[in-house]
Amino acid sequence: MSTENSKNDFTELLCMRESIYKDITEEKLREVFSYADAYRSFLNAAKTEREATRCARKMAEEAGYTEYHFGDALASGDKRYFVNKGKGIFLFRIGTAPLAEDGMRILAAHIDSPRLDLKQNPLYEDSGMSFLKTHYYGGIKKYQWMATPLALHGVIVRADGSRVDVCIGEEENEPVFYINDLLPHLGQEQAAQPLGKAISGESLNLLVGGIPVPAGEEGKGIKLNVLRILHEKYGIGEEDFISAELSAVPVGKCRDAGLDRAFLVGYGHDDRCCAYPALTALFSAKETKHTLFVILADKEEIGSNGNTGMQCRLFSDLMEEIAHALGQNPSAMRHASVCLSADVNAAFDPNYADVYEKRNSAMISCGPAMSKFTGSRGKSGSNDASAEYVGFVRRIFAENHVNWQPAELGKVDIGGGGTVAMYIAEQNIDTVDLGVPVISMHAPYELISKADLYALHEAFSAFCRD
Ligand code: MN
Ligand code: MN
Repeated sequence: MSTENSKNDFTELLCMRESIYKDITEEKLREVFSYADAYRSFLNAAKTEREATRCARKMAEEAGYTEYHFGDALASGDKRYFVNKGKGIFLFRIGTAPLAEDGMRILAAHIDSPRLDLKQNPLYEDSGMSFLKTHYYGGIKKYQWMATPLALHGVIVRADGSRVDVCIGEEENEPVFYINDLLPHLGQEQAAQPLGKAISGESLNLLVGGIPVPAGEEGKGIKLNVLRILHEKYGIGEEDFISAELSAVPVGKCRDAGLDRAFLVGYGHDDRCCAYPALTALFSAKETKHTLFVILADKEEIGSNGNTGMQCRLFSDLMEEIAHALGQNPSAMRHASVCLSADVNAAFDPNYADVYEKRNSAMISCGPAMSKFTGSRGKSGSNDASAEYVGFVRRIFAENHVNWQPAELGKVDIGGGGTVAMYIAEQNIDTVDLGVPVISMHAPYELISKADLYALHEAFSAFCRD
């Protein structure tokens, strides 16, 4: 926005939001679409935090990054990554400017998504069917996960320490899993209940088998047959579920949506549609002045707890290690560092206009949304970025002609949500939220705009450069 009144009608004084697709050149549209193609492959291969970590590591190695170990010597130009227990990854590139003065440019996204995790004693049989019990992970609307094909992804660690990676249901010829729903003919009472109460968490059981072992004990034959198949395929017994992390996620691949292919429908856009641009911005950064640091964290959907979540001290440890290795004062480095907390926002949906405040909601295809604050009920649980820092980011975006928009998630007191922003701000780092607006957030298949996805890559690239 410029204050120069060239048209003599003062319209340039207005804060405008316009669709990126409006008047887009053919060349730019091709760029946007080809970036979306690459993202689609990433999303298809990264349905869990472990898979996303593996993908990010592979991309990093292809970009010349090598593994970092605590205590390693570092010099400007070094490109390193650190994998956190297979579920998260930190990547950094040392710049030429002194860290104590210039700090780090940090992009922080998360790579876990809502899903259904298997319980530790999940397998049982009832009425001619065998099921796996689940406990949902993150905020889901339970009805969305029923009567739809699901795949099982994860890892089983045996008591001897050996491990098996599991992925069943993604290939055309592989079986899928299913959660039974009630037929409408018998669903009158269910339909009269509030949406949040109509389906209990304990009814989210995955159908896993229906053929008993020959002459098996009545009521246990199907369960035994499932165990037989699992033993043949993976060499595991029932006890091995105890030390397993298996998640049911929607089957299938990310697809173009709309006749004009403006959108992408897929599982886990939250928050891989911010994680992927963080990686591509890092790998394509040509300017070498700033030290760049990308965080892909786990556990955001359940509060960023645990030693793979953003609240873990590992982030702080790594920053100190880097400062020490370069002979820089870590406190001064933190104080000079700046961060974009890269997480999705809610896109205004005209079908549910009541819950949004249109003037302050993210509009689809108008660019990534910047939230000065998140939280709920009086900004509670928000880091509330300073005007000075928001101004700093605005300047970078303006100078680089980045498409973006200011946004707040929904109407005041309707709900709200948090991100990892506050945990980074706690480290004395200026932080503000910036991410892709999403339709149907946390649904098995979420929708984003290709234009917003690419604009986020451009925004992150500008932040890494200037
Ligand atoms: Mn998120
Ligand atoms: Mn989320």
